[in-house]
Amino acid sequence: MNLTVLPGTPDALGRTPTLGVLGGGQLGRMFVHAAQQAGYATAVLEPDAHSPAGLVAHHHVRAPYRDPAALAELSALCAAVTTEFENVPADALQTLAAHVPVAPAAEAVAVCQHRAREKAFFQRAGVPCAPFALIEGPADLSVVPGSMFPALLKTSTLGYDGKGQATVPSPAELPAAWASLKQAPCVLEKRLALRVELSVIVARGHDGACVHLPVQQNLHRDGILAVTQVPAPDVPAELGAQAVACAQRLAAELGYVGVLCVEFFALADGTLVANEMAPRPHNSGHYSLDACDVSQFDLQVRTLAGLPLVAPRLHSPAVMLNLLGDLWFPDGPAAPARTPPWADILALPGAHLHLYGKTDARPGRKMGHLTLTAADAATARAVALQACALLGLPAF
Ligand code: ADP
Ligand code: MG
Repeated sequence: MNLTVLPGTPDALGRTPTLGVLGGGQLGRMFVHAAQQAGYATAVLEPDAHSPAGLVAHHHVRAPYRDPAALAELSALCAAVTTEFENVPADALQTLAAHVPVAPAAEAVAVCQHRAREKAFFQRAGVPCAPFALIEGPADLSVVPGSMFPALLKTSTLGYDGKGQATVPSPAELPAAWASLKQAPCVLEKRLALRVELSVIVARGHDGACVHLPVQQNLHRDGILAVTQVPAPDVPAELGAQAVACAQRLAAELGYVGVLCVEFFALADGTLVANEMAPRPHNSGHYSLDACDVSQFDLQVRTLAGLPLVAPRLHSPAVMLNLLGDLWFPDGPAAPARTPPWADILALPGAHLHLYGKTDARPGRKMGHLTLTAADAATARAVALQACALLGLPAF
């Protein structure tokens, strides 16, 4: 695919060029905002009537992701189409690609959608990952070496935010753990002692040009991203550079076009291992909306439209706090929902509140995020800690 879709240039029929996205979640919403800012019209394919992206796009094609008529409608509307969530069926992307330029390609998305394929790809690309074993049938249970435990069992497909995972302290617990995941094909991973978690977001264009955001330091709670800090306070420069080089290598090996996030673990012995990839903008890159001169969503628009890529510059140190639905239930999950103290939050200097337009808060549901920017990292952290106190979030 090699195209340029210039913003603000009507086509032969006088229509504003339209960029499309498969999926209507918050990532799609922020893509839509970035595309609109650049002068594009936007279209979203999403079955939910009240999705975050569907609510703000010019066109909302409301149908299941695989619906042939809806895919035809989307390709007729759009000059190019991208995806916003990993579990969008790769075959839907393939169907679209026969009619309209699609980035990232279905084949690259398919690698990221399947943990076993992803691990094999890491190994092929020479990027270290955690020791693992495939659990795909009963015979696989008894041949896992004892050195793999304690371990985590992860379903090969459809896992996110720590869902589709079970902890496996010892070999004896493996059959029950696999049963708890409905004996789906799984990857068993050795549980590593993590010193720090980090991620790198790269954007690669049709011409192979590749730029990246600064390295992010991430804190997860219960398998869900809770806090991102940039610059990463506990990631030495050489380790960060190594992570960026790995992410760029992975994108190049995939022939990737679009925004790709690679999550890494830094271990106590100083080594770096790749955890997983996401073929789209990532929660850990949301700070770039407020702290960088080019955000991860701007980069997604540029890669999709074939526009020049420029390296983003971090203009303010930042801390991002994820706002999960739990915040609406300070009196417990059974009590009525209460709106968090947004006025107090917005009184903090450098506070950027992003809410995704979801009406019903549920524990664990990503409702929004809050980015605190400041002139220096110590201030950003201090204000973020004040925000945590106001919201009842633990300190970090
Ligand atoms: P998801 O697709 O749900 O994000 P991940 O594989 O990224 O799944 O796991 C979520 C989190 O669980 C990670 O960010 C990390 O905190 C923890 N985790 C995952 N794998 C391991 C591992 N092998 N060792 C230690 N912690 C892990
Ligand atoms: Mg993850």
